[in-house]
Order: sequence, then C-alpha cells, then structure tokens
Amino acid sequence: MTRTSAGPGRIAGDGSVAAHAPAKVNVHLAVGPLRADGFHELTTVYLAVSLLDTVTVRPGEGLSLTVAGEGAADGAVPTDARNLVWRAALLLAAHAGVPADAAMHVDKTIPAAAGLAGGSADAAAALVALDALWGTRATRGDLSELAAELGSDVPFSLHGGVALGTGRGELLSPVLARRRTDWVLGIAGEGLSTPTVYRELDRLREEGRVPAESAAGTPDAVLTALRSGPADALAAELANDLQAPAVGLRPELRRGLRAVTDAGALAGLVSGSGPTVAGLVADEDAAAQVAATLSGDGVFRAVRAVHGPVPGARLVG
Ligand code: ATP
Repeated sequence: MTRTSAGPGRIAGDGSVAAHAPAKVNVHLAVGPLRADGFHELTTVYLAVSLLDTVTVRPGEGLSLTVAGEGAADGAVPTDARNLVWRAALLLAAHAGVPADAAMHVDKTIPAAAGLAGGSADAAAALVALDALWGTRATRGDLSELAAELGSDVPFSLHGGVALGTGRGELLSPVLARRRTDWVLGIAGEGLSTPTVYRELDRLREEGRVPAESAAGTPDAVLTALRSGPADALAAELANDLQAPAVGLRPELRRGLRAVTDAGALAGLVSGSGPTVAGLVADEDAAAQVAATLSGDGVFRAVRAVHGPVPGARLVG
C-alpha cells in the first residue's frame, strides 16, 4: 500500500507543509449524454501542464484560509467553506477522524474559472499537504476517493501526467505518454462558469446546431499521437465538444483561437470549458516565440508558455 505521508522531514521549522498541483488541458473532451444525476458522461484525455498552484498549511485552531497570487484576481476565489481547499480539509479530517485544525494559504498561479481546473488543483494539493500535516497516513487510493467526492477533475489533479477520464471525468486510467508537449496558454480577462457552458452545449444540441452525439468521437487517435507522434500529428487530433458552446457564449474566443495559430501554434483549442485558449507548439523555442508574439498583440489578458506532462499533487521540498 502506498502511503503519502510526508514524514517529519517535509514539515518545515515553522511547522508548515506545502504541496503544489498542476493545471490541466483536455487534449480530447467528448461529452456524451446528460445522466440522471445531472452530470454528462465524458470521455476525456487529461494532460497536466507546468502551471502550478501551491497550498501551504500550518497548525491552527479551526480552519482559516487566505488566497493570493495572480490567479486570484478580482476576488473571484472564495476564502470560506465554498473554497474547494476548505471542503478538502473537512473531508480529510472526517475521513481520518482528526480535528479540522489548520491555517491554510493558497498561492494561485492558475487563473480561476479558466477551464484549467485551478480549484481542483488546489483541492488535490490541500489533501496532500494536510495528510502530511495531520499525519493521517491516508493511502493514495484513500485520497483519490476523497478527491472524487470533491469534484470531477480532482482525482486527475492528484494523479497528474496523462490520463483517460471516463464517468464524469473522475474514473481514471493512466496513459503512458511521457513525450513532452509544449503549449502556449492565452488567458482571458473574465472567467466562464463550467455549468453554464454545459447548459449551452445542451441547448445547441437540442436546437440541432451541433451534432446530438459527441463531435469529438473516440480518443484513440489522440492517444496514439500523444504516445508516439510528432506534435503536428497531435495537433490534427485535438478535439473538445465544449469549444462550440464556449465560443457561442464568448464570440471573441474565435479571435483568440485565430491569434494563436497566426502567432505560429500548430493548432489551438479551448481548454476544458474555457475561456483559456491552449495553443500546441512544436517545441520550447516555438513556445517562447509564440508567447512573445501573443503578449505583444493584446488579445489575451495573460500568456503563459507551459509544457506537459508533469506530475500531480505532491509535497514541495
Ligand atoms: P474546471 O476546468 O475544473 O471546470 P475551472 O478551471 O474552469 O474548472 P476553477 O478555477 O476550478 O474553474 O473554479 C471555478 C469556481 O469555483 C470559481 O469561480 C470559484 O468560485 C470556485 N472555487 C472554489 N474553490 C476554488 C479555488 N481554490 N480556486 C478557484 N476557484 C475556486
């Protein structure tokens, strides 16, 4: 059984423990029918990328939470029980039978409501950090189960790398695809609500404006390209059923998608429910060039060059 506990070496002199977790891009996202529980059946290929949030926890009385960093602009991130970090703390404490006592801080680099699973990353990092702080000796399997209760993307934020997600995205099969891919993320000024984007997809399907079945189809070709193909083979296979509704709600996303390919990306796609645009580029040099061009033309609020796959939530240090 794999234990995740840090051991005393990972607890800093001031009693704090820090963990970080990555953002994700869905290189394939096929949305199936709406289920009776209100979720859609998904088939997705997640890729963890090198944009990380850090959660630091230290001994405290009861729970407290502060949030800072460029991803936390405009007060979009709650600092109370609505925050996934807070919910992760309550869930882990109940699971382990320990008091929920911790002072928690999130340093957000991943923008909120951007389709990059920033909240899920924070929840996964919180599980790992608090497990170490409290010495709960939870197994990785225990943490995965708690993660699935917190949200569809949280198990992947814990897992990292590349994985095939089914169910509502929480049922993971690892994918052996260690080949590096480079991306440029174009981050918009204002976030998009994930449930709103799913509702828009349902509406477009009902009105026959997009195919009733998934247009993205099966992930086989994308998995093959991720394992062995050159970046342009992967570029040809990127697919996201949420792109049409995200563009429907935010028509300026069309300009963003065009801007990334005009700047030299091999392909652009909306990340998850958007509004971040992910441009796949040939290599690290191309990422730097495309990012510099996009930073100059003002289409996005921020531009980041990232790569994947990177590991999931883990202790820092
Ligand atoms: P996904 O790609 O998983 O659908 P997202 O990346 O678009 O999600 P998140 O950044 O995870 O979106 O956050 C969506 C909403 O969740 C935010 O608008 C915010 O109100 C709430 N939220 C709760 N906890 C957090 C957190 N730790 N960081 C960011 N948002 C959070």
